[in-house]
Amino acid sequence: MSDCIFCKIVAGEIPSQKVFENERILAFEDAHPQAPTHILLVPKKHFVNLFDAAADPALLGELGARSAEIAGDRGITDYRLVTNSGREAGQAVFHLHFHLMAGRRMGWPPG
Ligand code: AMP
Ligand code: ZN
Repeated sequence: MSDCIFCKIVAGEIPSQKVFENERILAFEDAHPQAPTHILLVPKKHFVNLFDAAADPALLGELGARSAEIAGDRGITDYRLVTNSGREAGQAVFHLHFHLMAGRRMGWPPG
């Protein structure tokens, strides 16, 4: 999508601090970290959110699996993986992304 900030990051038109990349997925540091570790995992293909990406369960599975690999590679033993689907749920960027957050005690329930 031409006006999507994460599509522009995937295309290299907007800089990011890359953490992981393969043919389907890009992971990069969140610009406004809410935890000592705050990484975003996005599919390279544009999906709006989980409602849209439900059409590709294999990709959703891989996003989860890669989050564990990224955390494990960093020696992280406890982390939260969260995605917001819809404005009311807290979604601000309408390209599917998972927040990998770690390094502090997480509250429950999330606000
Ligand atoms: P959400 O509220 O779930 O849509 O999360 C959007 C996330 O994208 C926020 O945590 C922002 O800090 C992050 N973000 C927005 N623009 C950028 C950017 N250019 N590079 C990295 N992270 C970004
Ligand atoms: Zn996009």
